[in-house]
Amino acid sequence: MTSVFDNTYANLPPQMFTRLHPTPVKAPELIVHNAGLADLIGFPITDPAVFAGNLIPDGAAPLSQVYAGHQFGNWNPQLGDGRAVLLGEVVGRDGIRRDIQLKGSGPTPYSRQGDGRAWLGPVLREYIVSEAMHAMGVPTTRALAAVTTGEDVYREEVLPSAIVTRVAQSHIRVGTFQFFAARGDIAALQALTDHVIARHYPDADGPAALLDAVIDRYAKLIAQWMGLGFIHGVMNTDNVAIAGETIDYGPCAFIDAFHPDTVFSAIDQFGRYAYSNQPGIGAWNMAQFATALIPLMQDREAAITDFTAAVHRFQPIYEDAWLAVFAAKLGISAPAAEDQALISDLLDLMAKDQADFTNVFANLGSDKAGDQFLDQTAFARWQDRWALRRGADADALMSKTNPQIIPRNHRIEKMITAARNGDYAPFHAMLDAVTAPFAPITDATARFARPPGNDERFMRTFCG
Ligand code: AMP
Ligand code: MG
Ligand code: MG
Repeated sequence: MTSVFDNTYANLPPQMFTRLHPTPVKAPELIVHNAGLADLIGFPITDPAVFAGNLIPDGAAPLSQVYAGHQFGNWNPQLGDGRAVLLGEVVGRDGIRRDIQLKGSGPTPYSRQGDGRAWLGPVLREYIVSEAMHAMGVPTTRALAAVTTGEDVYREEVLPSAIVTRVAQSHIRVGTFQFFAARGDIAALQALTDHVIARHYPDADGPAALLDAVIDRYAKLIAQWMGLGFIHGVMNTDNVAIAGETIDYGPCAFIDAFHPDTVFSAIDQFGRYAYSNQPGIGAWNMAQFATALIPLMQDREAAITDFTAAVHRFQPIYEDAWLAVFAAKLGISAPAAEDQALISDLLDLMAKDQADFTNVFANLGSDKAGDQFLDQTAFARWQDRWALRRGADADALMSKTNPQIIPRNHRIEKMITAARNGDYAPFHAMLDAVTAPFAPITDATARFARPPGNDERFMRTFCG
């Protein structure tokens, strides 16, 4: 059989990765395979042994990538794929090159104390949430398959282990640049930069243009997260994909009752990655990227001035994108500056009344709109202002921008509990529901649209 792979990262300087095979597992069993994605990306292999790392397909060049990163603001000079192996790259029917990566595939030289494995819960969470994000139009890594391994892992208890096959435009991160910049390995930094420009930003003519382009994509990405009430939860620089995709669905969650200070991640003690902090952290992450590119520049003093100016453009790009995202959610296709206050005032009312983020927007045009608010008079006054701004095409725009169904955290927890007991029906039902997020609610999907009851609220998430 001819190879489906077309690998390029494996040809970069050898200090950028370690070649190794995944560690085989006892008894691979397929949980789910994403046939639509397989077809799009040109990956016809469906053998569970491949998704488990037990069988290396022809043409694969398995390797783990090295990187560094700022974790919760603290510099860590040595990170890397501690539990992931890149099998190789494929070029899809759409002409896009993508990585095929096994996550949870065993220890690597970058594992430090970790076991190189993932447990079933986070694997199913990543599968569901990344596919939901894609369905809602957010750039993201995707999920091609998930398998159980027939083996256990030890977290605070014994848990079943699993492996997810992740697909990304690449797994190169801000932290990948930081690793070589910090070591003064200019040759690798240059090779990495050339690779990233050719692969993701072919219009960029050098590091300065690359920086501008990454800032543009990342600011717009975060605006999309904000428009969905999505909290990434671990915006470390090693979790910032340079291609502008959402990556690392560890402790992420969507807001139910809205408050801008919401934090889910159990390890985010000080709320660094709270909902409302995401754009500020986004700019901070871009400052770290800019810093990592400086060593490539002939005139470093001039570059520092130029790159600082570039980082300062993050905020206005983000604000424009935020306005466009939220205006569209209100059915306004050509936002004006005054719409900023209209949006902020609605968010303030929502926060005051702990209204459900998704359901407010999903029902805004219907007679159920007021149900989410305690202060009916204030909401009615807001509706009067809104009525003056929404155009004739408002309903069509709103139905494309306001999901009816998002992967709510309490439903994810229920789904994981069932899967631990061998029942995957809730996983499949939830996957079906969240991958058609704009479809009208039916009897089969109504439970996924309901906010958690007081006894169902699940406000803590963990890295698996
Ligand atoms: P994250 O917080 O998920 O971005 O992970 C940070 C780093 O820890 C990455 O380099 C991961 O590869 C590594 N890591 C996370 N979990 C494990 C594990 N179970 N075994 C080995 N390395 C891990
Ligand atoms: Mg990570
Ligand atoms: Mg993670």
